[in-house]
Amino acid sequence: MTFKASILTLYPEMFPGPLGHSLSGRALENGLWQLEARQIRDVATDKHRSVDDTPSGGGAGMVLRADILAKAIDSAAPADDPRPRILMSPRGRPLTQQRAHELAEGPGAIIVCGRFEGVDQRVIDARDLEEISIGDYILSGGEIGAITMLDAVVRLIPGVMGNMESAATESFETGLLEHPQYTRPADFEGHRIPEVLTSGNHKKIAEWQHEQAKDLTRERRPDLWQRYISTDSDD
Ligand code: SAH
Repeated sequence: MTFKASILTLYPEMFPGPLGHSLSGRALENGLWQLEARQIRDVATDKHRSVDDTPSGGGAGMVLRADILAKAIDSAAPADDPRPRILMSPRGRPLTQQRAHELAEGPGAIIVCGRFEGVDQRVIDARDLEEISIGDYILSGGEIGAITMLDAVVRLIPGVMGNMESAATESFETGLLEHPQYTRPADFEGHRIPEVLTSGNHKKIAEWQHEQAKDLTRERRPDLWQRYISTDSDD
């Protein structure tokens, strides 16, 4: 089964956007995954095709209506559709490389993009939406979040990345940030490529890269480092 993403959005023209280029764009063209962007407004039946209303209890802005969103979700995916139903949300669980892998191995995703102040809680509960956040900051809508999440997921779909080995040492895959990278020229403004990398000694190179990865992680991401040392006893 091909991975299929169905996006529910007020801005379907934002898709595929960046996902139509480079690695994910080629994979889309080659049918390694599918994308459909659905206009939420299409299920609104009133004269103005309105999808939002003022927040109950007062306050600024507008809230996406539960009945409209439920209808949009149901028309994109019947009850027996096996794909996870996701809501992009700053209150969600932060996206991780592990969740990206799980999604890439699955049949796809229904992804609801919020706008305005967000989404009526009752549709989140009634359609059992998994809330996913892409970080601790507020975007103006879920679309860029969805694009970010799909970019992370699509590259992990089997066959999309030519060289799966390059994925294995990447940041977050090993529990460590990746070591620094170098390429030609050998001398850049007086700075040379670390000698070990040009030694041809693969064991030494791997050791050096592993040490660099550990140093970087310890310095920059104490949270990852703590988790790493508590699970990898050989270091
Ligand atoms: N009032 C809400 C924020 C609404 S932002 C709150 O304070 O929690 C409008 C929409 O943008 C959200 O419904 C969500 O779909 C999207 N969004 C904003 N920030 C996001 C983030 N960090 N991760 C994922 N989606 C986000």
